[in-house]
Amino acid sequence: MNPLTHFVVPFSISLLFSNINFSIIAGLIGMFIDIDHYFEHIIHAKKMKFSLLATWNHAMSKHATYSEWSFIHKPLGIFFFTYLIGLMSFFNLEFSLIIALGYYSHILLDQISIRLNQYYFKLGNLIFQLSYLELLLILLSFILIVITL
Ligand SMILES: [Zn+2]
Repeated sequence: MNPLTHFVVPFSISLLFSNINFSIIAGLIGMFIDIDHYFEHIIHAKKMKFSLLATWNHAMSKHATYSEWSFIHKPLGIFFFTYLIGLMSFFNLEFSLIIALGYYSHILLDQISIRLNQYYFKLGNLIFQLSYLELLLILLSFILIVITL
């Protein structure tokens, strides 16, 4: 799923119950969970190991040669983050809910996108993948943002 979707979905939902600063944090967490793609690219790629462009295109490609997911996207990471978020909730409930929204929305959106028909296209040197459901989610998120603000 695209970084824009990973940002706007938790951002728009968190606007319903929190302020804009926390909502930005929820969106950024939703987006930056995929930072592990870069580290997995460095580990597994045969060439252009440190290229952000190559990392992006591999993650968006339908012919990916290795999984770009680290433990963060897998059951061990979900268990680890659930434990951390649970601990954090004792100190700051609202902030832990923001972290939870960013993280769990990301994991859920990734699971949904695996099962969808993705359409691939290229803009310049960048490969993109998109589905109708993802477009609908982005549209609904923007409507929610406009209504909430
Ligand atoms: Zn992801």
